[in-house]
Amino acid sequence: MCQNPAMPATAPQSAELDTRNHDRDRVGMTYVYPVVSRRARGVSIGVNLNPNNACNWRCVYCQVPNLTRGGPPAIDMAQLERELRQMLQDIVEGDFMARMVPQDMRRLNDIALSGNGEPTSAGEFPRVIELIGELLAAFDLTGRIKLVLITNGSLMHKSKVQAGVRGMADLNGEIWFKFDRATRGGLQMVNDTETDPERHYQRLKIATGLCPTWMQTCMFALDGNPPDGAEVDAWLALLARAKAEDLPLRGVLLYGLARDSKQPEATRLSRLSEDWLRALAARVEALGWRVQISY
Ligand code: SF4
Repeated sequence: MCQNPAMPATAPQSAELDTRNHDRDRVGMTYVYPVVSRRARGVSIGVNLNPNNACNWRCVYCQVPNLTRGGPPAIDMAQLERELRQMLQDIVEGDFMARMVPQDMRRLNDIALSGNGEPTSAGEFPRVIELIGELLAAFDLTGRIKLVLITNGSLMHKSKVQAGVRGMADLNGEIWFKFDRATRGGLQMVNDTETDPERHYQRLKIATGLCPTWMQTCMFALDGNPPDGAEVDAWLALLARAKAEDLPLRGVLLYGLARDSKQPEATRLSRLSEDWLRALAARVEALGWRVQISY
């Protein structure tokens, strides 16, 4: 969640999607929004199951405006199906790419469950995955594009969530599992959650056993100071343990502050230097993990 820039499906004919447009509210649909992804050099169809801007965590770097605690209201599955079908139709069979997407990015890369809150907190999550599977098949896209779940992972112990994630594995699925810090204090400070790091590690383990999974971490400076050495060491120790335990993790997605936080702490946060992130990435690689950095 909070990583996909969004763009309106109902934008003026002359407007092109670009990677700088991050306003999910301009989409014109409730659940679905198209995005041009710089990293993938293509279009991602975002699915936002949290149109009420409610999340069970409150990360200090979160880009969701007016974020509140909680979960989503009941998902209108018929509306979600209509919106996703229309978006796929426009992209696959219509002139959406020609009208809206820069020429060098005219390829559909993925559908991403990435919204204004935690997607797996929707009770309909497993049914949403089934629906996406049905629509991928209807447009002959099964296995040809990725299905990405961007999650804080906090509900991965729930059987309903596991059922959905298991279904994703058959749909070229991939989980991006948030693990920003590996101490209680760090999780409290960064994600404003009482989550116990050991329990979160167990959830990560569950995810990796069900579907290809990347760990996703955001690093930033607070009041001008980078994360302290002990915090970084704890996070690296977690990755060392995952390697020792042979967790089938794909690797680490290491993020800087890509966009401005919409939370009260926003003015206290700042970007770390590229050198800082690269040095950390080198330490992760030394543990035997792949790393992708995003600034
Ligand atoms: S998990 Fe964090 S970053 Fe993602 S929507 Fe919730 S508060 Fe925002």
